[in-house]
Amino acid sequence: MTASNISAHILIVDDDRSVRETMYEYLRNAGFNSQTACSAEEALDLIKKNNFHVVITDIILPGLGGLELTKTIKKNNESDVIVVTGYSDDYSYEEAINIGASDFVIKPVRLEELLLRLKRVLKERQLTEERIRMMEKLQRLAITDGLTKLYNSRSFYSQLELEVDRFNRYRHPFSLLLLDIDHFKNYNDNYGHLEGDKVLVRFSQIIKSCLRTNDSAYRYGGEEFTVILPETGGEEAKTVAQRIRKTLEVEKFTPQPDEDVQITISIGVTQYYPKEELSTFIQRADKAMYLSKQNGRNKVSALFAEPPAES
Ligand code: GH3
Ligand code: MG
Ligand code: MG
Repeated sequence: MTASNISAHILIVDDDRSVRETMYEYLRNAGFNSQTACSAEEALDLIKKNNFHVVITDIILPGLGGLELTKTIKKNNESDVIVVTGYSDDYSYEEAINIGASDFVIKPVRLEELLLRLKRVLKERQLTEERIRMMEKLQRLAITDGLTKLYNSRSFYSQLELEVDRFNRYRHPFSLLLLDIDHFKNYNDNYGHLEGDKVLVRFSQIIKSCLRTNDSAYRYGGEEFTVILPETGGEEAKTVAQRIRKTLEVEKFTPQPDEDVQITISIGVTQYYPKEELSTFIQRADKAMYLSKQNGRNKVSALFAEPPAES
């Protein structure tokens, strides 16, 4: 008995009791956990309450037929279906596969063959699940910054484009923060790059802790970060920026024993204006951030565009 047999949950659907019971016994001896149903209707009831990996169904059933059952399952569930049909029945392999069955077995069923087909379907299922997991992981990696686990700059640009689309449709305001760590080169020079990296990681957590669910934070470049604030005007964005600045200001970093170091950040705030280019919008946030640097660092500065004249 293998681990996958134990965890696989099978439903056998056949109106002939002896067929049902023979299959059930055979699969049980092979280590599978099955249930049985004598009609498609009973099967659908069981499927509502249980999560079956594979349904093995006869095609000819009283009431709803096996092909209809397969269609319903494929529409609403994740289960695989193996259909069983007699030689003389007027159903083709092609027909069963076209409506979503994973395999097809001819009656009288050779139980060894059914078991082989079941194992193949389960194996394919497992491979598909692994492929999906791998794809999801790759998709996550493609938009994530490796060090800080914030979103990366690529996803910053794609998210901004989405926000502009939304703005054009609904005219809800949205704002941008650009954050740059103060004198970070000195920190690296004094304590080493690894200690610098720890600051980037901790700071990223601080940013996240200051945001709401719909806000998103990005590592824009080395020690520069951005935050997109949907449904947020410039004044409200300044408040969020101050919250981040103050939370970082009171955080103590200990790059070496008995040495507490304070880290500060300069932030630029701006709000999106109708029809402006993304580059103009980002540059304005950058200029605002530089104002914070010029005014002594550890500051929040905002720059807003003039609304375009009515035409
Ligand atoms: P300012 O207050 O004007 O921003 O000064 P600064 O020293 O922070 O700015 P500068 O642009 O001169 O230096 C940025 C520093 O950020 C230099 C670089 O070593 C550091 N840095 C960039 N990326 C990383 C990183 O991934 N890890 C570490 N540890 N340091 C980084
Ligand atoms: Mg910088
Ligand atoms: Mg800096």
